Amino acid sequence: MIIVVKPGTRAEDIAKFSKVLEEKGVNLHISQGTEYLIIGLVGDTSKVDPRQVEAYEFVEKVMHVQEPYKKANRMFHPLNSEIDVLGNIIGGKKLAVMAGPCSVESEEQILEIARSIKKSGATFIRGGAFKPRTSPYSFQGLGTEGLDLLKIAKQETGLPIVSELMSVDMIEQFVEDVDIIQIGARNMQNFHLLKEIGKTRKPILLKRGLSSTIEEFLMSAEYIMSEGNENVILCERGIRTFETYTRNTLDLSVVPAIKKLSHLPVIIDPSHAAGMWWMVDSLSKAAVAVGADGLMIEVHNDPVNALSDGQQSIKPKKFETMMESLKIIAGAVGREI
Ligand code: PEP
Ligand code: MN
Repeated sequence: MIIVVKPGTRAEDIAKFSKVLEEKGVNLHISQGTEYLIIGLVGDTSKVDPRQVEAYEFVEKVMHVQEPYKKANRMFHPLNSEIDVLGNIIGGKKLAVMAGPCSVESEEQILEIARSIKKSGATFIRGGAFKPRTSPYSFQGLGTEGLDLLKIAKQETGLPIVSELMSVDMIEQFVEDVDIIQIGARNMQNFHLLKEIGKTRKPILLKRGLSSTIEEFLMSAEYIMSEGNENVILCERGIRTFETYTRNTLDLSVVPAIKKLSHLPVIIDPSHAAGMWWMVDSLSKAAVAVGADGLMIEVHNDPVNALSDGQQSIKPKKFETMMESLKIIAGAVGREI
């Protein structure tokens, strides 16, 4: 349920009203729109009588939220959410560009990539230290050593770190070491993990599950937000379809859809979607044109010998030229890189 409060309502009236609502056992999510104040009710609203609520003279209207996601719903929060990560705002005019290797492999590798992407205008360094590989015999990541190497790269370049968390027992370490915790596609519906990271206040990059609908994707965001962490960034990374030519099918329609349904920022990862390095440039351009709030791009200095996802990683030089053309497209749609 959403209660729209008229502009100019006195703060003490809102406070008294909120108390009445809370006594009925619901949690309130209050957000200021451009004109109206929006009070979103979360939880069991059966004891709240909409007619009684409408009787308050400062209530403009009462609406029912049909969707199962509440805190992630744009009705609860009409303005776009902007997430501040060490002064980098995600969801604002400037696009977030997260670039780096699939896996952190060595100090030399991560430093070389970090320096070059920084020069080209990337705003975050990405790199996996704990890797969710399809085969248990494939490289599983450097673990905590990988996180230490990312910290060295951050120290030198100032780029905040994005890295994937796979298990609850590593949450404390990730809160300490990384700036954005990535939840990978395979863990999008690991509800226990989502609830636990929801108890932190770290920005979370939530990747869309391989076969998840948009509603399931938003429900996973809701799991994190229901625990109090509203710093959620959504990431489309391709979904499974009947098509086998590409690794996955990039669903660009998710951007306008999510912009309509939710206030959360949404970024696009064309690397995992296509699975082929030569498609990354065109898909990135399309992502910026369609209104994404940023990109996640796999960049490797030696893709042929990469320990994971070399086939979809672009070289630093290619990243540099791509960033130049993305600036033009961003400008054309009122954004900045
Ligand atoms: C990754 O970002 O390297 C990764 C494993 O992504 P996804 O969860 O989208 O497959
Ligand atoms: Mn990868």
